[in-house]
Amino acid sequence: MGGIIKKIGRILRKSLRYLAYALGFYAVLIAIIVWRSGDDEYQGQLHENVVNDITELNPIPMTRIMAPRSVDEIVAAIQTSSGPVSIGGGRYSMGGQTAIDNGLQIDMRDYDQVVSFRPEYHEVTVQSGISWRELQEYIDPHDLSVKIMQTYANFSVGGSLSVNVHGRYIGHGPVISSVKSIQLVLADGTVTDASPEENQELFYSAIGGYGGIGVITEVTLELAKNEKVGRRTETMPITEYGKHFAENVRDNDQVVFHNADIYPPDFEELRDVSWYITDEPLTIEDRIIATDDNYFLLPKMVKFSNSSSFGKWVRSSIIDPIYYSSDRVAWRNWEASYDVRELGEEDRSKMTWVLQEYFIPVENFDTFVPKMRAIFKEHEVDVVNVSIRHALPDPGSYLAWARKEVFAFVVYHSQGTTNQDKEEVATWTRAMIDAIISEDGAYYLPYQPHATVKQFRAAYPNADKYFAVKHAVDPDNRFQNKLWEKYYPSKKSQIREYLDSLDGYKKGEEQTFLTLPEWYLVFNPNEYADFLERGNNPSDFPFFSSIDEYWALYDRVNVLVDDLYPANFEYQTMLWVIGVSTTAEFVAKGAYENTIGRFTRWTASEDTPEDFLIQEAHRAYGDLIFVEPWYKFPFWDYVQRAWGDTPFFGANFIRKLERKVLATLEFGFKSTYAKIIGFGAQTAFEGSDGLVTMHIVADADSLPAIDPRIRVLRDFGEGDLIVTLPRWGGFTEIMPKLAASGVEFVEISGNDEILITTVEDQVLALRPDKARFLFKSMVISPVGKKRSVYVVRIEDLKEALNSLNTRNITLEHVFDF
Ligand SMILES: Cc1cc2nc3c(=O)[nH]c(=O)nc-3n(C[C@H](O)[C@H](O)[C@H](O)COP(=O)(O)OP(=O)(O)OC[C@H]3O[C@@H](n4cnc5c(N)ncnc54)[C@H](O)[C@@H]3O)c2cc1C
Repeated sequence: MGGIIKKIGRILRKSLRYLAYALGFYAVLIAIIVWRSGDDEYQGQLHENVVNDITELNPIPMTRIMAPRSVDEIVAAIQTSSGPVSIGGGRYSMGGQTAIDNGLQIDMRDYDQVVSFRPEYHEVTVQSGISWRELQEYIDPHDLSVKIMQTYANFSVGGSLSVNVHGRYIGHGPVISSVKSIQLVLADGTVTDASPEENQELFYSAIGGYGGIGVITEVTLELAKNEKVGRRTETMPITEYGKHFAENVRDNDQVVFHNADIYPPDFEELRDVSWYITDEPLTIEDRIIATDDNYFLLPKMVKFSNSSSFGKWVRSSIIDPIYYSSDRVAWRNWEASYDVRELGEEDRSKMTWVLQEYFIPVENFDTFVPKMRAIFKEHEVDVVNVSIRHALPDPGSYLAWARKEVFAFVVYHSQGTTNQDKEEVATWTRAMIDAIISEDGAYYLPYQPHATVKQFRAAYPNADKYFAVKHAVDPDNRFQNKLWEKYYPSKKSQIREYLDSLDGYKKGEEQTFLTLPEWYLVFNPNEYADFLERGNNPSDFPFFSSIDEYWALYDRVNVLVDDLYPANFEYQTMLWVIGVSTTAEFVAKGAYENTIGRFTRWTASEDTPEDFLIQEAHRAYGDLIFVEPWYKFPFWDYVQRAWGDTPFFGANFIRKLERKVLATLEFGFKSTYAKIIGFGAQTAFEGSDGLVTMHIVADADSLPAIDPRIRVLRDFGEGDLIVTLPRWGGFTEIMPKLAASGVEFVEISGNDEILITTVEDQVLALRPDKARFLFKSMVISPVGKKRSVYVVRIEDLKEALNSLNTRNITLEHVFDF
């Protein structure tokens, strides 16, 4: 007996030594992983035609993007296509206004010529894709300027009319008041003119109509004189601004540009920056800002001043006083030719800069300011700047944001890019919109469409007039984008509103990709269980290749999502936690099984009951993790069974004992680790109700027979159903059954693409229909099989899943989000 105990002691000591070696090896391995990260070549491509905007918050995959150079090409594009059409100008709107999933985008930027120019009448007709900057260069030699435009000159004329922009001009309102006429291509391909005198309904709905009425192809604009302007600035308490503006600015026909910047974080003081017509000598000789101007310093100053209360103080107390201390005299065209590059072009994957704008009737200025200040403070909004502008009433556009004379509050803020960050911004934006509605104001539509449908209706009371025109000229709703998807009253927008109102419905699309390495840790234990059940020696399992495969998958999915989606820190952290702990586990197990394990197996004539118990545990574990989080596995039961259910003595005693000890160490450790993780960690399983919500088209009555786990949340009629399915393994079981029953998939968890994997013989190179192949992944066991990873558009998922059966391809998994 004493000898046996000594032997056990020796084995344990040896095991500990191996564990120490393993940990050393593991440290080296991690270094190698970090070093090789990103080496893997990415063979697939996700979206060919992704439209995004300057915030990088809104990637939208389109079926096709075409860039016309003539009206005929625009007409042909509309008439020869079916499905939704979106229109893109400069793409500086910030909430998907230029795109719709799987639509055709007409990118107007190459449709950019001057059609006719009558300088003596201060009038020009342009193709709508021309930018203000290009137009400025054309008219500047004739001492003419654009009459009304934004602060920056990068925007297209068509995009500017479609949002009915304003600038810093005094004595004017929205851009519509400088538009003499437009030419439009309608949904049926008709080319028509519209002006305040002709086709007024089209004129007043297309301008400010966000691409919903038709394509604005030509625009005739009234121009202004290019004059010398001199800058004057002064600071004052915000409470004095209304009086100051009324007395010194509003009716002063010498003021060309005016804005007032309110200083964060207190919003108690502001700086009036006005440009007056002057005869004084120029301090800036350039007539227009040079296109190769260097914008190195300004973005850095903006970033610094936004970084902390100290930064904000430095801006208001040091930077601005110095910046505004010198006199400036420049041409009007110079002051109107700023480039958005001055806002910075840096990486926006983690933090981005966003605009919002609120319009308040002038008489309500003083009551709105405290409400705005309170919302910023309560929600700790990272405001970079709030700039006040002024606009006279709109002459009649149906979606007018200036129904009366208004002040505009242009809010520039930073925000994170995670779903949670977006939710937080949505919350305070809705609070601001409530505040502005309580003051009879409006908010601006080119920004993120956080407003509820009710808020939109309250801020735009004439929306029905607009919708009536749209319905008449675009009965099939061809012209779509993310804005109208939400607010144009259709079944689609009702469904959208309902889905958006569901708590936690929207999951980041990147998660379908990022779950792949996580799922590998479900596939791998099952491969291990299969391997053991086939009577293999556990020491022969390729633990080290398994580690490599996990990190290879991690690299590959990161290459896929890196440029396309905002960073998902929560998920990345989780992948690192499980990756590192799995690496540690497999290194230790690999080292152990290849030494002690191999030795004890050599001493045994056959598998012991303990071997079978461990086998059983791994099979049970493999089964459980398809449907439950891993930490719910009863590891401790197997420790107890190793000592209780199998006799202590018996044939192949060395192996028996060693397996008992192994089961105790492995399952004992995992039992403790599982308790810790289960208690506190936020894995992908947690914080979810275990359900996937999706929009399908199906016969509601047929669903229980397909699978009783399908629940109908809401029936929108004509087959449009919102349903829930169980997540994980249950999801993969039910999806092919739905597809086989002819059910159409429209949207899953707010997304339109999803990952699937198949497993097939290496020799077979069969592929499912409509699925885009991304890469292959190794199947450790059985040898000779290959896992293929595909991305599929949700609308093609039915076809893709159905094609698997006909081609004898085994579906391994559908990766919910
Ligand atoms: C840095 C920055 C500063 C801004 N400053 C101002 C400002 O000072 N004042 C202001 O009012 N706004 C401002 N905006 C907001 C706004 O996005 C722009 O005024 C305008 O939308 C940009 O024009 P665009 O060519 O980029 O339009 P896009 O973003 O391309 O399009 C805007 C909308 O117009 C539609 N559209 C585009 N072209 C056509 C066409 N030819 N026919 C029909 N529909 C079309 C699109 O479908 C979309 O719905 C600013 C935005 C940014 C990013």
